Amino acid sequence: MDCIFCKIIKKEIPADTVLENEHAVVFKDINPKAPVHLLVVPRKHIATLNDVKENDEELAGKILLTAKEAAKKEGISESGYRLQINVGEGGGQEVFHLHIHVMGGSE
Ligand code: AMP
Ligand code: ZN
Repeated sequence: MDCIFCKIIKKEIPADTVLENEHAVVFKDINPKAPVHLLVVPRKHIATLNDVKENDEELAGKILLTAKEAAKKEGISESGYRLQINVGEGGGQEVFHLHIHVMGGSE
């Protein structure tokens, strides 16, 4: 499958990885829109949030917890940050592998 995030997960192309666990990989966005801009990407290829099924419930919870953990690791936990999921073309999604943007840090 020609998916750039699957290739990053399989380490076929490099990324600046912040943390990895059983469910997800977190790496720095290549075109950051905030001083700290991370992407939390589930290992399972799911195109968009619309494609998340009832039996992905555990995964959905784990990627949210992973976002929190990554924010802490990058030192923006206390100062604050925001999460964003773009869904579909109309939602501004460019990479069709589900991901959570984690953005924060002072300018
Ligand atoms: P979205 O618009 O929600 O699909 O966001 C896709 C994000 O992936 C954008 O913010 C891009 O800058 C980022 N991105 C695309 N390719 C890479 C890459 N190879 N490594 C890191 N981030 C990437
Ligand atoms: Zn993928």
